[in-house]
Amino acid sequence: MYLVKTPWFIKQFYSGLLWNKRADGKRIYLTFDDGPIPIVTPFVLNILKEHQAKATFFCIGDNVRKHPELFEQVKAAGHSIGNHTFNHLKGWKTENQIYLDNYLKADELIPSNLFRPPYGRIKRSQIRLLRAHRPELQIVMWDVLSGDFDLKLSPEACLENVLRHVWPGSIVVFHDSLKAFDRLEYVLPRAIAEWSSKGWEFAGL
Ligand SMILES: [Zn+2]
Repeated sequence: MYLVKTPWFIKQFYSGLLWNKRADGKRIYLTFDDGPIPIVTPFVLNILKEHQAKATFFCIGDNVRKHPELFEQVKAAGHSIGNHTFNHLKGWKTENQIYLDNYLKADELIPSNLFRPPYGRIKRSQIRLLRAHRPELQIVMWDVLSGDFDLKLSPEACLENVLRHVWPGSIVVFHDSLKAFDRLEYVLPRAIAEWSSKGWEFAGL
């Protein structure tokens, strides 16, 4: 069970985290989690390039280790990068020291002031630990969850999810992962084309 649109009371409860940017015109912040990997990440890079769109990639350290050339391509294309831990750890189920160590291991490969906790699950004590290491760290959540990871969701419904819920300043989550690819491959080109035709811009964080 997950919500496509993050409710205001959750944003307020975790108000120290970044849920959406301030509305400053028709601007969307697309984010791609869990890469970089072959096929899917290059596909995303191509679509973004076609529309001169910038985005943010929250990378898994272990994938950067395995595919350094893809990571370089993401950076060379001018996109923003963020840390998504080294092994995609679930904060609520992970001891704080292990969580911090995993973040730091990824930080060696992905030096960034942006961090997104895998699954959006992080304890307050873990937030404090990470910020003690890097005071300027921005912990980035989201405003719109595409559901592209949901194997039961049709590509058409996934497209509908994102088109209906995006507001100015929205942070939208997609995944450059194999699991999401069936939906992403359908949704991303169509969503970007639709938004572009209506004058929206796409920026990195
Ligand atoms: Zn993830």
